[in-house]
Amino acid sequence: MKFTELGLVPEILRSIADQGYETPTPIQAQAIPVVLAGRDLMACAQTGTGKTAGFTLPILNRLAASRVTGPRKIRVLILTPTRELAAQVEDSVRTYGAHLPFKSLVIFGGVGINPQISALRNGVDILVATPGRLLDHAQQRNVDLSGVEVLVLDEADRMLDMGFIHDIRRIIKLVPKKRQNLLFSATFSDEIRTLAGSFLIDPEYVESERRNTAPELVKQFVYRVDRERKRDLLVELIRDKGWYQVLVFTRTKWGANGLADKLLKAGIEADAIHGNKSQNARTRALANFKNGKLHVLVATDIAARGIDINELPHVVNYELPNVAEDYVHRIGRTGRAGTEGAAVSLVCVDELKLLHDIERLLKKQIEVVPYPDYAPDPSIRAEPILMRSAGARGGQRSPGARTGGGARPGAVNATRSGSGKPPAGGGAHRSGSRHR
Ligand code: AMP
Repeated sequence: MKFTELGLVPEILRSIADQGYETPTPIQAQAIPVVLAGRDLMACAQTGTGKTAGFTLPILNRLAASRVTGPRKIRVLILTPTRELAAQVEDSVRTYGAHLPFKSLVIFGGVGINPQISALRNGVDILVATPGRLLDHAQQRNVDLSGVEVLVLDEADRMLDMGFIHDIRRIIKLVPKKRQNLLFSATFSDEIRTLAGSFLIDPEYVESERRNTAPELVKQFVYRVDRERKRDLLVELIRDKGWYQVLVFTRTKWGANGLADKLLKAGIEADAIHGNKSQNARTRALANFKNGKLHVLVATDIAARGIDINELPHVVNYELPNVAEDYVHRIGRTGRAGTEGAAVSLVCVDELKLLHDIERLLKKQIEVVPYPDYAPDPSIRAEPILMRSAGARGGQRSPGARTGGGARPGAVNATRSGSGKPPAGGGAHRSGSRHR
């Protein structure tokens, strides 16, 4: 499936090409046609699956296909649980709508209300908001929701966890009855089903793809290693075993960068690809990897999705993925079409629970191979894994990981965002780019 087969307008296809996306992710391939058809949608999808584009692209398409004249009214309302997610979603709206004339705005609490009031007065097509601040604006009559055609609840399960259910119900009363509703949630709890039942009309259900079988031809190994020694072990493995064309997976964008730098310093031709790199840089890295100039490509899960290279000899899980199914996707890159491949995972004490989840999914144990001189130090305790880094230092974890939650052996305390993006600039209000 290609983006061009989905029936999106050329302006949107252009922004997709600007981002360098080649193929829709599974959730996009399923959700986009449903949203384009005007149906209500209940999607079970986690962050990192490409869900934001899954609703943003068809919504923009809807606006582009039925432009309205007269003063701007809010036509799309997207509710998110946190200000970080709100900022991220609005960022995506601007990115994917870069060649369209729509105005977007993000509003959340904890920052001054006045700039938001004037931005709302200037006219907005797409509003992304956290529930509490939106209701403040509604009470003060700063916001008119009578023109809303599409209502999106993003990370609905988290909104319920955070106690926003009453706010959401109040907001639903402020938008027109006739509208399209989209509900995204990482889980399908009874509470979510109840909300979906009262909120969605004849919805289509879609779920991000779950594959739970490993390709047979892939040899899988685990090297147990201390977290601080992973880089050295990787350098040794690549050198000693004479590996070439190694696709290395990290959890975060900053982790990918740090690792590529380290490999370069060790004299190994390496580069990183992820969403923060320019399209040119990504295309160049990929071409060099394909033609053999680059021995190692370090990638995040989502960046690797768009890569069209199969039958790689080596895939390395430098860090295990948070979601066990992603492991299967990763190692599916090797050993295709009859060639034998090897998938190697470097596993530190923090990741034992993730390894256990993967083995449970695969219904088999992955062979642990000792590597001389790298036996893990048994006195090192597990620490929580954080996906988002406030002060990325090119290391494996953020400083917050040491303070938050308290480490317990085997603890995995991943945040729900895989984007690696820091929260919106110090809580500063940011309005849609076209307000400025
Ligand atoms: P999300 O699950 O919406 O948070 O998206 C995770 C990341 O995937 C974002 O950084 C997007 O830029 C990226 N992304 C979304 N769709 C695609 C795609 N079709 N191909 C490659 N990357 C994508």
